[in-house]
Amino acid sequence: MTYKFQQLPQLVDKRGKLPSKGSYNKRAKGVKSITTRVWHHSLTKLSAGGSNIVAFANFHVGTNGWPEIAYHLIIDPNTIINGKAVIYYSVDISKRSYHVGNSNTIGLGICVIGDYRTDKLSKPTIASIIELRNALIKDGIGKYDKSHNEMPGYSWKACCVYDYNKAFKDILQTIAPGATQKPSLPPDLYTIQEGDTFWSIAEKDGPAGITVDDLIVANPGVAPTKLKVGQTIKLGKSQHAYTPKPGTPKHPQSVYKYPLPSGVLKKGARGESVHQLQAALAAVHFYPNKSTKNNGVDGIFGADTENALRRFQKVYVPYQVDGVYGQNTKEKFQAVLKSKGY
Ligand SMILES: [Zn+2]
Repeated sequence: MTYKFQQLPQLVDKRGKLPSKGSYNKRAKGVKSITTRVWHHSLTKLSAGGSNIVAFANFHVGTNGWPEIAYHLIIDPNTIINGKAVIYYSVDISKRSYHVGNSNTIGLGICVIGDYRTDKLSKPTIASIIELRNALIKDGIGKYDKSHNEMPGYSWKACCVYDYNKAFKDILQTIAPGATQKPSLPPDLYTIQEGDTFWSIAEKDGPAGITVDDLIVANPGVAPTKLKVGQTIKLGKSQHAYTPKPGTPKHPQSVYKYPLPSGVLKKGARGESVHQLQAALAAVHFYPNKSTKNNGVDGIFGADTENALRRFQKVYVPYQVDGVYGQNTKEKFQAVLKSKGY
């Protein structure tokens, strides 16, 4: 059957065409079990390179280990069709995708790309929000609209931060960021729900936010890549656990114990800069090859080094797990080395 929302001219069907490994399970009671249209934003700035559906799919599948991208529908303000933001249909609505923990069974996941703590909803975006919602209502898909942080267990989360109710009503007015009430303080402890990762739990680097690094520092006994449903982690108390002290004087990287090379390095590269990268990886315990005498620090960027770099990126640069050393990885690496006292 074809729904009305599928006939919107700005909708592009991406089902089965995005990076995946397998498929979500079908909703046991079918599409009629959807009660709530859950509104998200991607928390990635519209201007950032990784703000696109392929990057999200790679992250959700490759880093989080989910079968497919998290959201059923994604509105992308960076691509306009006939004056309206494109709507990607990315996961069939009959499937129970991972976007809102224990409420996945009843939730339809709709994500607007952007970080609306600072980005603003554009008119083409608001037009697509309204048209998509109206079509879903006509199709009988969901009874309520809620933001991610109005769902049980997520009141502390900065998602979404645009005023979706206002978007439904007012197409003409550009909506200011931060229009909804401030999220409440996170609880001290948090219980892992299905589909959670440190990255999805963290509120990225806002002034009051919890970062992935905060979570790692506050939960030394927890392996970020092996979270189990029902496991309890420290949340509120992790706030700023990692954040480096302000006012640290800026030295050129070369005066540090592990200077980081500049430029781009990938598999096949050789020489001093590769050696520097490998030494830095080993210093933060991402050894290129632990079974050799010098931990695989040999100046040759081969499969082991690529693997070590990917493991580093998985934890610290999860939007760019590509095994290639470049500017984003370098900046994060400098922060990590500094935080460890190097
Ligand atoms: Zn969300």
